[in-house]
Amino acid sequence: MRIDERMERPLTQHIRPGETNSLADYQKNGGYEGLKAALKMTPKEVQEVVKKAGLRGRGGAGFPTGLKWSFVPIGDDAPRPKYLIANGDEMEPGTFKDRLLLEGDPHQLIEGMIISAYAIQAEIGYIFLRWAYKKAAQTISKALAEAYEAGLLGKNILGSGFDFDLYLHTSAGRYICGEETALINSLEGKRANPRAKPPFPQTSGLFGKPSIVNNIETLCNVPHILRNGSDWYKSISISEDGGTKIYGVSGKVKNPGLWELPLGVTMREVLEEKAGGMRDGLKFKGLLPGGASTDFLVEEHLEIKLDYKGVEQAGSRLGTGTMIVLDDQTCVVGMVHNLEQFFAQESCGWCTPCRDGLPWTRNILWAIENGQGKMEDLELLESLTQTLSPGNSFCALAPGAMEPLQSALKYFREDFERHIKEKRCPWRS
Ligand code: NAD
Repeated sequence: MRIDERMERPLTQHIRPGETNSLADYQKNGGYEGLKAALKMTPKEVQEVVKKAGLRGRGGAGFPTGLKWSFVPIGDDAPRPKYLIANGDEMEPGTFKDRLLLEGDPHQLIEGMIISAYAIQAEIGYIFLRWAYKKAAQTISKALAEAYEAGLLGKNILGSGFDFDLYLHTSAGRYICGEETALINSLEGKRANPRAKPPFPQTSGLFGKPSIVNNIETLCNVPHILRNGSDWYKSISISEDGGTKIYGVSGKVKNPGLWELPLGVTMREVLEEKAGGMRDGLKFKGLLPGGASTDFLVEEHLEIKLDYKGVEQAGSRLGTGTMIVLDDQTCVVGMVHNLEQFFAQESCGWCTPCRDGLPWTRNILWAIENGQGKMEDLELLESLTQTLSPGNSFCALAPGAMEPLQSALKYFREDFERHIKEKRCPWRS
């Protein structure tokens, strides 16, 4: 079966290239009907619908959304105010899916946020936006004004008695601000260092109050679930988890881009049917399935399902679902060096393994790439991937940075060895 025959695209079907849907456009296509349905339910009932739908976080970690919401205390004795934060600090290399949603259909996000805020009884919301997303800042600002004007935000939303104020916050521009507790520190006006977890933000987040941080794509799913029900949401997926995923492909393929597809399509389907396969004269060598902080997968994995379980069983993570493709004429050592340069630069410097380990890793890779490497360096790199593994650093930045390196050493070790033996990069003319 070709993927187009079974496609429903609730998040992107009304997005027109280069244009932004107004409130009127959004409402013409059923916009804010999910909110009306949600406001007839209790907050706990809304949480249950989302739980049953099987929605998992689309920012990279895949935590079940309804379950995350259920950790927030609700009821008269709950601490107040409570906060809902949309994480739009999309800085994972190769990842540009949230930008499409922010620029193309901002009311979908706003509706998702109002419903999600209602589900946890949050009074205040923030959209934390990547500094470089200038057009998105404009589209969101305009949509917020339209929503206030229409009584969809502010006091007594649609006569329900529920109050919710929503603000846009543009980030100062660091990758670490996407980590939820660093983001919260940044919103509080502090330096964006991650906090220790627990306590998780659900109980002690922004200004010490219960807070939920959800990714943009995650929140954009919520209106459709409330409008069409959890059974429908499960039915549009071909995975045990519900819904669609916005997959992306970058690298030297014929047709790089983004496609909303049922969660669980195979890697081959996306690469060949959507991205058009490799450009003429190039061979597929491998890919990072979900942004740069995931492990490489190779030819033998082309048939795997691109869902949380499928990618994990293959030894990587779905991450953001936006693939970075490596071809046979690109030097993998140079590619990994470039990524480690990025991660070293973006480390907040709070914990020693990350602050010192990442520049060290980058320097070794630079030496190998430039013909100055030694065979012992490969053992040293292996040991650094262990030192910077989960649990040894304060947040997921350093362990994430080790994923492309450890898998490159596993699948492409000969390429590293060739650099060392030939004392040069064999891919450079
Ligand atoms: P995480 O697994 O620690 O947490 C994910 C979410 O689940 C968080 O909201 C957290 O509060 C919640 N959670 C996890 N365990 C919990 C528990 N025991 N109790 C209550 N809540 C719990 O992952 P993370 O550090 O938030 O995110 C790492 C991911 O972010 C990586 O997978 C990476 O791919 C991704 N990432 C994405 C981008 C991007 O631009 N989209 C950028 C950088 C990293």
